[in-house]
Amino acid sequence: MSEQSKEPQEEKPRGFFADLFAPVAGFGVSFKTQFRKVATVEYPEVKAPTAPRYHGRHQLNRHPDGLEKCVGCELCAWACPADAIFVEGADNDDRPTAQGGTGRFSPGERYGRVYQINYLRCIFCGLCIEACPTRALTMTNFYELADHTRADLIFEKRQLLAPLGEGMVQPPHPMVDGMEERDYYLGKVAEATVEQRQYVESHGPHDAPDAEGGESK
Ligand code: SF4
Ligand code: SF4
Repeated sequence: MSEQSKEPQEEKPRGFFADLFAPVAGFGVSFKTQFRKVATVEYPEVKAPTAPRYHGRHQLNRHPDGLEKCVGCELCAWACPADAIFVEGADNDDRPTAQGGTGRFSPGERYGRVYQINYLRCIFCGLCIEACPTRALTMTNFYELADHTRADLIFEKRQLLAPLGEGMVQPPHPMVDGMEERDYYLGKVAEATVEQRQYVESHGPHDAPDAEGGESK
């Protein structure tokens, strides 16, 4: 360090008014803020809308005929840095329950039999939805996730599954006749067919076997 830089710099005189208002200058920020638009809302009576891409509660999506998009691959669970997801896949079984089968819940070979997200661990980073190969897992704008017990914050598949939309029927039921798994991703399925509806009416909707079972993490 040079000798010159060690010399103390002289303070410039501020002037009469600067000296006069110096002790209360900090209040200027508070004063200006009083005239700004208030951002606070009376939550929970008033709920401000979130940003459109806000990362809220997850959702497990369906195909247009009601079959589930999740194929139980566990990629979301592997991608999660907080170890918040537990998935257990199982084989689809086209035999109806009356014949000892479990039925079909998704197009293709496998479906997510058990699916849990632990919201005590989740940091809403969105890495799981990036990892999902079928766009089965997305995030909604729902943010009210407080509860009274730790167990209530482990969401099960039935809580995460998207509700049935127009044209859908509750699985288990077969795929659209003549379609393969890839046709679902090519957008060739628009809604449940008459045959699928008749299947559900004759066999009755039921939950996936042990859908709420599996070990919590
Ligand atoms: S949002 Fe992030 S922390 Fe939450 S489950 Fe997905 S990957 Fe895990
Ligand atoms: S949500 Fe997506 S990544 Fe996770 S198990 Fe299902 S298909 Fe695989």
